[in-house]
Amino acid sequence: MRNREESRTPVTVIGLGLMGQALAGAFLRAGHPTTVWNRTAAKAGRLVAEGAELAESVADAVAAGSLVVICVTDHDAVHRLRASIADVLDGRVLVNLTTGTSQEARETAEWAAGRGAAYLAGSIMATPQGIGTAESLILYSGPRSAFEPHEAPLRSLGDAMFLGADHGLSALYSAAGASLMWSILNGFLYGAALLGTAGVDASTFDPFARQNIAIVAGWLSGYAQQIDDGAYQAADATIGTHVAAMDLLVHESEALGVNAELPKLVKALADRAVTEGHGGDGYAALIEVFRRPLDGVSRSVPDS
Ligand code: NAP
Repeated sequence: MRNREESRTPVTVIGLGLMGQALAGAFLRAGHPTTVWNRTAAKAGRLVAEGAELAESVADAVAAGSLVVICVTDHDAVHRLRASIADVLDGRVLVNLTTGTSQEARETAEWAAGRGAAYLAGSIMATPQGIGTAESLILYSGPRSAFEPHEAPLRSLGDAMFLGADHGLSALYSAAGASLMWSILNGFLYGAALLGTAGVDASTFDPFARQNIAIVAGWLSGYAQQIDDGAYQAADATIGTHVAAMDLLVHESEALGVNAELPKLVKALADRAVTEGHGGDGYAALIEVFRRPLDGVSRSVPDS
C-alpha cells in the first residue's frame, strides 16, 4: 500500500516511444509528479495534456526527478544520452528499462556509480498496453537500498520483482524467460505441424499440449536439485533412452514430410552429451553441453 509520501515521489521518464509513454502515463495515473523528455518533443503531447511536465532538456528532466526512468531503443541510445545527464545524476536513482544484455547493464552501473547515482537495471516483461496493470511484470537488479525506497512508485508500473545486487540479473532472467518461451512455443508449433498431417487441428491439440507442459513443469524442481548438486542420476530415463526417442521423432517427421530441423537439433545436442560420457545419466546432464560454447572454451560460473 502506498503511503502519502511515496505517492508524491517526483519521477522523470526519458524516452517517450511506445513503452516510455506507457510508463509515464502509469506514473501520472498513480499520482506522481511526472517530468518527461523525448528527443522528438512532439511525442509528449498526450502526456502533457494529462498533467506531465515537458522538460526543455534531458538534463532539466533528470534534475526534476528523484527517481529517473530511462527507456529508449537500445544501449547505444542510452550511451548517447550519458554525456548530457552525467552532471545532474548525483543523489538520484536511475532506473534503466531499456532492453539490453547483462554486460551492458553492468557497464552502465559502473558509469552511474562514478556520477553519484544509485542504479537499477530493469527488464520489462510486458507490452505497453499491460503497463500499470496486474498483467505486467518488471524485473529489477542492483542495490536493494536503491530499490526498496522506490518500490511503491515502481509498483505503479506493474508487478515489480527484485532479483539481487548483480546489475546483470534482470537481463539474464529476461533471457532465461525468452529461452523458455521459444522452446515451449516451438514445441507446440512443431507438435501442431506433426498432428496436422493427420488432420488434427491446433485447437484440438491445445488441451493435450497444456497437459504435457504441466507434466514437464512438474519435473523441474528435481532437475534443478540435480543441476545444483552436479549429480545427474537417471531417476526416470537416461539420455541414451531420450536419444532413441529423438531418433524416432526425426524419422517420423521425415516420413511425414515435416521439417525435421528442430528434432535434429535437439538430438545433436543430446548426442554430444552421450559423446561426452553422459549417455547413462539423466536428462539434466545436458546442462554440461549448454554451459560451454561449441569451441569448448569454458566460462567461469560466478559465485552467487
Ligand atoms: P520505440 O517506440 O521505438 O521508442 C524508442 C525511443 O527511444 C523513442 O523515444 C526514441 O526517441 C528514443 N531514442 C532512440 N534513439 C535515441 C537517441 N539516440 N537519443 C535519444 N532518444 C533515442 O520503442 P519502445 O517500444 O518504446 O521500446 C523502448 C525500450 O523498451 C526498448 O529497449 C524495448 O526493447 C523495450 N521494451 C519494449 C516493449 C514493447 O512491447 N514495446 C516490451 C518490452 C521492452 P524518438 O521518439 O525521438 O525517436
